[in-house]
Amino acid sequence: MHKILKNVDKVVFGRGSFNQLDEIIEEKRADHDKFMVFLVDKFFEGKPLADKVPVRPEDILIFVDVDDHEPTTQQVDEIRDNVKKEKGIPSGIIGIGGGSVMDIAKAASLMFTNEGSSSLYQGLNLIKNPGIYHVGVPTISGTGAEVSTTAVVTGPEKKLGLKCEWTPFNQIILDSELISEVPKNQWFYTGMDTYIHCIESETGMYKNTFSTAYGDASLVLCRDVFKGQTCGQNPENDDKLMVASMMGGLSLTYSEVGVCHALSYGLSFVFGYRHGIANCLAFNHLEDYYGEAVQEFKGMVAQHKIELPRNLANSWTEEQITQMAEVAYNLDHMWKHALGLEWKEKLTLDTIKDLYRRL
Ligand code: NAD
Ligand code: ZN
Repeated sequence: MHKILKNVDKVVFGRGSFNQLDEIIEEKRADHDKFMVFLVDKFFEGKPLADKVPVRPEDILIFVDVDDHEPTTQQVDEIRDNVKKEKGIPSGIIGIGGGSVMDIAKAASLMFTNEGSSSLYQGLNLIKNPGIYHVGVPTISGTGAEVSTTAVVTGPEKKLGLKCEWTPFNQIILDSELISEVPKNQWFYTGMDTYIHCIESETGMYKNTFSTAYGDASLVLCRDVFKGQTCGQNPENDDKLMVASMMGGLSLTYSEVGVCHALSYGLSFVFGYRHGIANCLAFNHLEDYYGEAVQEFKGMVAQHKIELPRNLANSWTEEQITQMAEVAYNLDHMWKHALGLEWKEKLTLDTIKDLYRRL
């Protein structure tokens, strides 16, 4: 069976395009209980961007704190419950932030029309009813969350996305002016998420011409942004990274991620590492799986003087290593892609534990 890809419905790209948000959402304002919910990364509270959010008196604006932990099902449920109690069902929800805020907006849009906790719907096609209109505005580039078909959240038992045909945004606004001041380390870690998406998507049994074409195009842009003479944070590269993130997201959506992401999910679940840095920590030690790409990655780490934490495993308990390995082992689809249908014959829980011990 070939996957049916649900793309985002509408895309606006260009510096300053954020100013079109009010006009874009206007036609949806009559839906449901006639108010919009804006979820804005708390980082922007009191900053100029917050003043540009087109909030009307009937709307709700929530600054979302994503600093302490990755998005949780509890956070999504609370937003849904509080908004519903205060005003009913919104006409739409607009997520303005990095992958974390965008995923919360995607998940919340589904939960306004589906009963119970979002943790019940972590998985593929478990959602029963289409969600409400939702718009994504990335303020960091790399995760591909702006185009992907999943809203990744951590629940009581697992980190896993709400994945269905209604998850992707109805509209995204790609305005690279919004990413111009991302601190260098975060810019690098989240940017490397794209690079790793493409490498993993192109290395495994689910790769195909469609996913590889997006992956290749994204890698060209990533190399401009992170390697060579004109690399670094500047307006031209911000444009490139924004497009690279989108194409990397499409590449992995039509293929799959692999070993690095499986390990990264374990790191985030047990120690709360953010996705971007968790990927970098793992990828740095995966030469036997991704060979030259890991060499290239190390070159980019050195070029941007990124200090990746080392010798982490020394302070981990056996129990923590086992817990991470179990989270990773359960990501069957990633291992299948990376190692083949018979992956369990090639890799055991102990192999994964040894991979973690390399960190
Ligand atoms: P993030 O959203 O977690 O944000 C990282 C930090 O950057 C936060 O402190 C945030 O406040 C800050 N920030 C955001 N915009 C900023 C700006 N313009 N300037 C300065 N600081 C800013 O980071 P991320 O890497 O974009 O997202 C990670 C999340 O995305 C993880 O939860 C991960 O699971 C998820 N993810 C989802 C998908 C998907 O397909 N849905 C894919 C990959 C990752
Ligand atoms: Zn990723």
